[in-house]
Amino acid sequence: MARKRKTQKQWLQMIRMEGNPCLATRCKPISDPVLEQEIINDMVAVLGYTKTGVGLAANQIGHLHRIIVFKPNKNIPGFFVMINPEIVGRSNELTNRPEGCLSYPGITKNITRHELIEVDFKTERGAMCTSKFHGMNARIVQHEVDHLDGFCLVGAK
Ligand SMILES: [Zn+2]
Repeated sequence: MARKRKTQKQWLQMIRMEGNPCLATRCKPISDPVLEQEIINDMVAVLGYTKTGVGLAANQIGHLHRIIVFKPNKNIPGFFVMINPEIVGRSNELTNRPEGCLSYPGITKNITRHELIEVDFKTERGAMCTSKFHGMNARIVQHEVDHLDGFCLVGAK
């Protein structure tokens, strides 16, 4: 079935904003490759259209499954996709830095995160992976996994 093409504005309007119940929902694991790809395509389109966004969780655009997409490095094009990410290791070292969120525009908050994390996840191609992330990438993954668990420290009162 042909998908109706969306305008940039329509893609960006998919982002659920403060108060939307999707943001307070704990997302379910996913194991349907067709649905995974549909969700990933939507997420990449939306994140690609944002000027400032570096990461997106599926429930931020209304898909209540455990998928995150992020831009791993400002200088490198492309997106990093994780299906069913689970943080399995965390460094004792913490860093406190400002964070923003596409669902809470105009707000930045200093948030303490683990500097280094180890994450189990499935890739877009279906491979099971364990990878380490540090610094900004670790911060983004921790932020997006919070979303999948139904909360966001940037938006927390
Ligand atoms: Zn966010």
